[in-house]
Amino acid sequence: MEDRVLIFDTTLRDGEQSAGAGMTVDEKVEIARQLERLNVDIIEAGFPVSSPGDFEAVQTIAREVRKPIIAALAHANEAAVDRAGEALKDAAHPRIHIFISSSDQHIQHQLRKNREEVVEIAVKAVSRARQYTDDVEFSPMDSSRTEREFLAHMVRAAVDAGATTINIPDTVGYAVPEEFGGLITYLRAEVPELGDSVRISVHCHDDLGMSVANSLSAVKAGARQVEGCINGIGERAGNTAVEEVIMALRTRGDYFGVDTEIDTKQLYNTSRLVSQVSGFPVQPNKAVIGRNAFRHASGIHQDGVLKERTTYEILNPLDVGVPRSELVLGKLSGRHGLRSRLEELGYTLSNEELDKVHESFKELADKKREVTDRDLIALMGNERTAIEETYSLEHVQVTCGTGEIPTATVQLSLEDGSLRTDAATGTGPVDAVYQAINRIVGVPNELTEFSVNSVTEGIDAIGEVSIRIEQDGKPYIGRGADTDIIVACAQAYMNALNRLIAMGDTSRSPEAAGAV
Ligand code: MN
Repeated sequence: MEDRVLIFDTTLRDGEQSAGAGMTVDEKVEIARQLERLNVDIIEAGFPVSSPGDFEAVQTIAREVRKPIIAALAHANEAAVDRAGEALKDAAHPRIHIFISSSDQHIQHQLRKNREEVVEIAVKAVSRARQYTDDVEFSPMDSSRTEREFLAHMVRAAVDAGATTINIPDTVGYAVPEEFGGLITYLRAEVPELGDSVRISVHCHDDLGMSVANSLSAVKAGARQVEGCINGIGERAGNTAVEEVIMALRTRGDYFGVDTEIDTKQLYNTSRLVSQVSGFPVQPNKAVIGRNAFRHASGIHQDGVLKERTTYEILNPLDVGVPRSELVLGKLSGRHGLRSRLEELGYTLSNEELDKVHESFKELADKKREVTDRDLIALMGNERTAIEETYSLEHVQVTCGTGEIPTATVQLSLEDGSLRTDAATGTGPVDAVYQAINRIVGVPNELTEFSVNSVTEGIDAIGEVSIRIEQDGKPYIGRGADTDIIVACAQAYMNALNRLIAMGDTSRSPEAAGAV
């Protein structure tokens, strides 16, 4: 059997679905470019029929990202397949990914059809997709809860209709590893093309925390494509964390006997970018790329690692691209030094972008003597999440403390340069700042998530604030980073509000989304 496993990244489709309408087309293109640097084999760029915004994102990525296969998701019906085909028209390597439910739970309750009708619909959609491209993937949704004999029958029909990849999704995260691997073995026996002329893929969800284990068990049984998202984001409890699958295959090649062609040194940057853009922080104890993954707290472990790294580390932090955290740049570092360090970290900047980052860098270096790689990545996050600003933050000041009523004064500037100033009280300093901003901006919204993380150790560390606000059930993320956390909070809120104002009309309705 082939010893290469393809990585199918669906951060921009399944992952974005969970983040809601949080990402702009530009942000999606930036993530797609980073996924290309990571050397993933397939990027699922979106679900074109679900909204005009998704269509545009798939089309733009198909035009601009040329090396990987670009996949577009479609329901098994003419309109959806045609829309996917259209969005991929200019792709260098287009793939249409069709799905329809196969389990009785879904067929009876959701589709209200009988089994044979569903097979017929699937066959028609696959044939139609083949008119647009020779690369067609088919997913029987909810495979792991589908009766095996019927699943094999449906897969057989899709293969005969021209599907070149068969994806077996554990849509609801129900499978357990041994059983899921067994399902792949069973299907290969029933449909001999599987694992030979037709590639087997798996797509697992993490509802019971077994998505990575299920995916690996399927690889052992002959799957040669694994789907998932960076940082394991995705519907509900999320998808398979692709970085974990990649490093498990690489580290335990002795057991699996297969590998990917991923440039693992890009994993850390990719993880950071997805976290910044999606607004989902990475948990510190996250396998492979969490901030504590290479930190040793126990004395005996520290002693061992200092003597010989491999005593307690099975992964080398350099292999996954974790940056050094020692001093890299100071106040006197010029634009040139900054540019070359950012390039080493994987950022390519235009002169204009460099000017902006250099300004923020100088401000930071004034407040903080040592500017580390992690600080630079946080600064880049500010640039990345920049959005067209209807209002920008000029000044924020707060009074708070024991015996004080938390009070904030805020000054914002408008596009025409005019200034608005207002003040408000709140239950705490952050609430007061947000109330004062609300008095000026006057856009109703609800704050649904708020988190503050320090970027580095030390009392002078940058505080990074991620927030999520909602209007009519649609989420908008915001991010800010500053050594003053009140400033970071205000920046994050302005970022989210400006995003809401800029994107308010184009977001998709939640019911239009699908879920393989
Ligand atoms: Mn999914």
